[in-house]
Amino acid sequence: MSNFNSHNFAGEKALVRVDFNVPLDASFNITDDNRMRATIPTIKKILGDGGSVILMSHLGRPKDGPTDKYSLKHLVKHLHELLNADGGNTTKVFFADDCIGEQAMLTSGMLKAGEVLLLENLRFYKEEEKGDEAFAEKLSKLGDVYVNDAFGTAHRAHASTAVIAKYFATGKKLFGLVMEGEVISAEKVLHASEKPFTAIIGGAKVSDKILIIENLLERATDIIIGGGMAYTFMKARGGKIGNSLCEDDRLATALEILEKAKAKNVSIHLPEDSVIADKFDANANTETRPSDAIPDGWMGLDIGPKAVGIFSEIIGRSKTILWNGPMGVFEMEKFQNGTKAIALAVADATSKGAFSLVGGGDSVAAVNKFNLADKVSYVSTGGGAMLEYFEGKVLPGIAAIKE
Ligand code: AMP
Repeated sequence: MSNFNSHNFAGEKALVRVDFNVPLDASFNITDDNRMRATIPTIKKILGDGGSVILMSHLGRPKDGPTDKYSLKHLVKHLHELLNADGGNTTKVFFADDCIGEQAMLTSGMLKAGEVLLLENLRFYKEEEKGDEAFAEKLSKLGDVYVNDAFGTAHRAHASTAVIAKYFATGKKLFGLVMEGEVISAEKVLHASEKPFTAIIGGAKVSDKILIIENLLERATDIIIGGGMAYTFMKARGGKIGNSLCEDDRLATALEILEKAKAKNVSIHLPEDSVIADKFDANANTETRPSDAIPDGWMGLDIGPKAVGIFSEIIGRSKTILWNGPMGVFEMEKFQNGTKAIALAVADATSKGAFSLVGGGDSVAAVNKFNLADKVSYVSTGGGAMLEYFEGKVLPGIAAIKE
């Protein structure tokens, strides 16, 4: 595995898999360009070395081949603006309305150092998601070196994210800066974590998080469980949870997890108290109660103040922290305190030297909501990919480069 920054791209055409799967409104305006912004440093490094860049991505889920709605042509203008934001207006951006075939070959062939070519949506070919070898080989012909900077699709064995790598020699397949950041941070947490290592797992469903908890039982010192999923554990232990979220078909699994944790000497912490509500509503009446004594008709929608105190103390003495999933219904103001307090505790521990990684859609949304994204060590952009990584799975996009 070569290091991106130490590779000199002078004179090379770099074929870069990016994640430009951005949301567009009805007039094709980009409503959130974070994924595009994230990869600009990777592109600029290649151009700065005197290389040229051929970008490939998917956009949306086109079902029947080329569809105007899913065309990457809608992104060209904004990409040009992002690349020329320093005012130089020197970076040219071309577009090829196919990702393979004659036009793609011709345009990429003519590309000069310092120029950028954006290829049309890879998913206009069903071969992309099938991981078709012939399609991957055609794509590979467009560049001299392959750079994967699309962490969000690293858990997919698609043609452009994984299969393509075998058509490039060692030293000619690299992670881009986004990928490198994600991989280094994830490995630091999972394989080189300084102890105590606390994992904070929240969100709605136990069933979504079983694999991640089981994998963490092998590595973490403490696992904090909050959010809706905590009540399945509470009920499994014999608690009264009223109308709180519960997966009755997972009660046995929850007990098994608690048993395994005991055997492995991992401390699992459930919220001692909860903010309960008489309905699932922003204006519900609320009270604070022990999480195992919630009256019928009431539901736990946030962790309570005692839980916040205990969890914050555990987080405060941790050296490695992984956070996935909110502690309550943080989208509603009345039930955001637990998630906010935990975000602050993670930020505080980070300022004292802990390494903290926040990953998975809703906890990322939470740190952003509370303006704490720059106070944690790393915020992962790849929701599904990061989850699979922490479940202990091998991500095809990572393996393909490392092989
Ligand atoms: P997930 O995608 O599994 O991480 O779940 C995130 C969602 O879980 C958020 O939309 C939260 O509003 C929701 N959530 C968190 N805590 C609770 C709770 N106690 N009851 C119901 N939903 C919750």
